[in-house]
Amino acid sequence: MCLICVELDKNAMTFGEGRRALGEMRRGLETSHVPEVEAKLDEAERQASLVTPANAPVP
Ligand SMILES: [Zn+2]
Repeated sequence: MCLICVELDKNAMTFGEGRRALGEMRRGLETSHVPEVEAKLDEAERQASLVTPANAPVP
Protein backbone atom coordinates (compact mmCIF):
# COMPACT_ATOMS: atom_id res chain seq x y z
CA MET A 1 0.00 0.00 0.00
CA CYS A 2 1.05 3.54 -0.66
CA LEU A 3 -0.54 6.96 -0.42
CA ILE A 4 -2.27 6.50 -3.77
CA CYS A 5 -3.90 3.21 -2.69
CA VAL A 6 -5.02 4.73 0.59
CA GLU A 7 -6.53 7.78 -1.08
CA LEU A 8 -8.23 5.68 -3.75
CA ASP A 9 -9.69 3.37 -1.11
CA LYS A 10 -11.10 6.40 0.69
CA ASN A 11 -12.36 7.80 -2.61
CA ALA A 12 -10.35 10.86 -1.65
CA MET A 13 -8.57 10.83 -5.01
CA THR A 14 -9.91 10.40 -8.53
CA PHE A 15 -8.21 8.08 -11.00
CA GLY A 16 -6.97 11.13 -12.89
CA GLU A 17 -5.33 12.54 -9.78
CA GLY A 18 -4.00 9.09 -8.98
CA ARG A 19 -2.36 8.71 -12.37
CA ARG A 20 -0.69 12.07 -11.98
CA ALA A 21 0.46 11.16 -8.48
CA LEU A 22 1.76 7.83 -9.75
CA GLY A 23 3.80 9.64 -12.37
CA GLU A 24 5.37 11.75 -9.66
CA MET A 25 5.78 8.97 -7.09
CA ARG A 26 6.72 6.11 -9.39
CA ARG A 27 10.42 6.29 -8.61
CA GLY A 28 9.73 6.21 -4.89
CA LEU A 29 7.52 3.15 -5.07
CA GLU A 30 8.58 -0.46 -5.03
CA THR A 31 8.81 -1.65 -8.62
CA SER A 32 6.51 -4.57 -7.85
CA HIS A 33 3.85 -2.24 -6.47
CA VAL A 34 3.52 -0.02 -9.53
CA PRO A 35 1.40 -2.55 -11.51
CA GLU A 36 -0.85 -2.92 -8.45
CA VAL A 37 -1.42 0.82 -8.35
CA GLU A 38 -2.09 0.88 -12.09
CA ALA A 39 -4.66 -1.91 -11.62
CA LYS A 40 -6.32 0.10 -8.87
CA LEU A 41 -6.42 3.15 -11.10
CA ASP A 42 -7.97 1.11 -13.92
CA GLU A 43 -10.58 -0.19 -11.51
CA ALA A 44 -11.27 3.33 -10.21
CA GLU A 45 -11.68 4.54 -13.79
CA ARG A 46 -14.08 1.68 -14.53
CA GLN A 47 -16.11 2.49 -11.42
CA ALA A 48 -16.22 6.16 -12.38
CA SER A 49 -17.48 5.29 -15.85
CA LEU A 50 -20.26 3.19 -14.31
CA VAL A 51 -21.79 6.15 -12.52
CA THR A 52 -21.85 8.54 -15.47
CA PRO A 53 -25.39 9.22 -16.74
CA ALA A 54 -24.47 7.96 -20.21
CA ASN A 55 -23.93 4.51 -18.74
CA ALA A 56 -26.90 4.55 -16.39
CA PRO A 57 -29.14 1.54 -16.87
CA VAL A 58 -32.29 2.14 -18.88
CA PRO A 59 -35.37 1.66 -16.69
ZN1 LIG B 1 -0.18 1.51 -3.13
